[in-house]
Amino acid sequence: MLGITMIMDVLGFLWIIPAVLAVEEVLMDSTTATAELGWTIHPAAGWEEVSGYDEHMTTIRTYQVCNVFDGSQNNWVRTRHIRRGGAQRIHVQMKFSVRDCGSIPNVPGSCKETFNLYFYESDADAATRTSPPWMENPWTKVDTIAADESFSQVDLGGRIMKINSEVRSFGPVSRKGFYLAFQDYGACMSLIAVRVFYRKCPAVVLNGAAFPETLSGAESTSLVVARGVCVPNGEEVDVPIRLYCNGDGEWMVPIGGCTCKAGFEGVENGTACRACISGFFKATQGDHECLPCPINSRTTNEGASNCVCRNGFYRTDSDPAQMPCTTIPSAPRGVISIVNETSLRLRWTAPQEGGGRDDVVFNVICKSCGGGGRGGCTRCGDNVRFEPRQLGLTEAEVRISDLLAHTRYTFEVQAVNGVSDLSPYSPQYAAVNITTNQAVPSAVSIMHQVSRAPESITLSWSQPDQPNGLILDYELQYYEKSQAEFNSSLFRSQTNMADIRGLKPGTIYVFQVRARTVAGFGRYSGKMYFQTMTDEEYNSSIQEKLPLIIGSASGGVVFIIAITVFIIICRSRRTTERPENTEYTEKLQYTSGHLSPGVKIYIDPFTYEDPNEAIREFAKEIEFPCVKIEQVIGAGEFGEVCSGNLRLPGKREILVAIKTLKAGYTDRQRRDFLSEASIMGQFDHPNIIRLEGVVTKSNPVMILTEFMENGSLDSFLRQNDGQFTVIQLVGMLRGIAAGMKYLCDMNYVHRDLAARNILVNSNLVSKVSDFGLSRFLEDDASDPTYTSALV
Ligand code: AMP
Repeated sequence: MLGITMIMDVLGFLWIIPAVLAVEEVLMDSTTATAELGWTIHPAAGWEEVSGYDEHMTTIRTYQVCNVFDGSQNNWVRTRHIRRGGAQRIHVQMKFSVRDCGSIPNVPGSCKETFNLYFYESDADAATRTSPPWMENPWTKVDTIAADESFSQVDLGGRIMKINSEVRSFGPVSRKGFYLAFQDYGACMSLIAVRVFYRKCPAVVLNGAAFPETLSGAESTSLVVARGVCVPNGEEVDVPIRLYCNGDGEWMVPIGGCTCKAGFEGVENGTACRACISGFFKATQGDHECLPCPINSRTTNEGASNCVCRNGFYRTDSDPAQMPCTTIPSAPRGVISIVNETSLRLRWTAPQEGGGRDDVVFNVICKSCGGGGRGGCTRCGDNVRFEPRQLGLTEAEVRISDLLAHTRYTFEVQAVNGVSDLSPYSPQYAAVNITTNQAVPSAVSIMHQVSRAPESITLSWSQPDQPNGLILDYELQYYEKSQAEFNSSLFRSQTNMADIRGLKPGTIYVFQVRARTVAGFGRYSGKMYFQTMTDEEYNSSIQEKLPLIIGSASGGVVFIIAITVFIIICRSRRTTERPENTEYTEKLQYTSGHLSPGVKIYIDPFTYEDPNEAIREFAKEIEFPCVKIEQVIGAGEFGEVCSGNLRLPGKREILVAIKTLKAGYTDRQRRDFLSEASIMGQFDHPNIIRLEGVVTKSNPVMILTEFMENGSLDSFLRQNDGQFTVIQLVGMLRGIAAGMKYLCDMNYVHRDLAARNILVNSNLVSKVSDFGLSRFLEDDASDPTYTSALV
């Protein structure tokens, strides 16, 4: 039990209780006695039981005393034993009349106008005429009772008296029962009625909860807590609901409350929760009423907490329940295309029907239908550029560039909104067919110096991003920086490399290159400056040599055959290809005269002044969150090799092998590690391991390649010794030879062809891997796996 003020202070949220009358449980009422009350009197000459009438003139039994002329009175009258009946606090209502002492002639000073009320607790009705003794202690005094009004006229015949009514209470009481005693000490009075009762707070339904009848506490200030139980289909709000019953049997300090749960609304003044009728819903618990279903939705039963959408209409997770259900938009209208060479501008009008939503956006799907006009259309690759973007366009316009020249395309402009993903139907779209025009190649973006001598400079460059057709050749324009541009010389190259001779030693030259197709020359690249060596520099230059490495001790006969095939192919080539008077180091790759016009050749990433530039040029940067590492599958030169998944936006998830660069790497280790990606990224062949991309902007730095389920060829052959058919073995050999031939054609020397560097996938396709350069920079003689020889 708690004090009222304390509870008020502690708890913030209270509600007002309608007045509910306290219940009074009567334990004894003298007015209902039909015979003598028979209360015990002491002394015999004191109180006297007499019949009388109450204010309604009903016959009642009363006690009177009027010994005002005799001094020192001490008259007691004791009730019968009264059972407590569970009460903790007892209330006594007394009706009595008292004669005004002043109105009695010759009355002595001992005349009183008050009397005392006592109680005595006992488990049994064991009181006698002498016990408990007639004195305070063992009796407990409740109060001295004074009359509010005394009377001065005695009219015993008509009994015109002033009747006082007083209530006193006491507690706590704990025995099974108690006696009351009234002590007169010199008054002239009549005890007309005595009613003994206790109070209870009645059972009520308040704020959506039912509270049981609760006995009040032992003290007038005490509060007895009662927990409420929510009415059916009601739920508590925040705190458990409770009420406090005070000493007067009144409910107070209400805390918490119940409200009807979702699908139900409060009725009958909040005393019951009723299910929402069909066609109405209530989404959440609360005091509010059921609402009619929004447009395009309906209920399936009574007591609905939401309305389900009609067929063909949807609601997103973030749409509120009271929002109408919506549908997919109709197709965009009136698509207009303006083609400019290999670029295009598309414009359209918003769809007539937004599906009832205002979040309509547009996606543009590009399909390339080839040049000849026959055959099907396929989705365009990643290289087509969309501005501002391809998906989720908010404006009805897009610019598309980097298309292939002379090619038919279909563009589908889809209208989508927030519920398009929920619909089983594809978005509605409007399509437009266009054919791009002939276009010259785009500009070469960068040139690199491969090597230089006093009278020559060898340069290489990458193919233009948009060749727009077969590149026939490149034209290099160059002139001395100190001379005017019109003095420039021209040099034609059928590859993306040029060895310019006849230059002046120690002189800066300006170079620009452009590609040519049947459509003509493309734009020149930006001007780039390279300087020839001075004679002094040349004399002191150190030629770096790295041994070529061939052969393998592993992999058995099968692998040796593969190498032999490859070596034969490469030898026959190299005898005709290598320039006579080269000043390149062995590390560098060579250009060749046999190459077809426009064929791409390999560019050594170590010729880039900034190795990061080579990475940017040849390897795609992948955002770290697109990569999911699954498990470690091997140990590489620079760190663990793992398998995992790569999910690029808008693409299917694929399995990848992930080479990681271990923590604490030096700049040089990072550069060497990533050089493998710069090399791999230049190749595109079914028997060369494919680079998916690199992660360089976060740690760990990673190289992602296609995943080869059967791992390296040497262990694969050993583990499955004797289990392959000749056809399968030859198929694997053929793959290695095809991969090596491709490398050969790209003018790349692998230098570490070994069965352990061939990977095999689940279809038994073998692919050449391991383009890492680091070991060539170390002393190979320490590696017993290899014997070195010149090819
Ligand atoms: P490496 O650093 O290239 O020698 O790779 C070390 C080991 O990782 C190899 O011997 C293979 O077992 C494994 N590995 C490397 N790349 C792949 C891949 N693309 N697919 C499956 N396993 C690979």
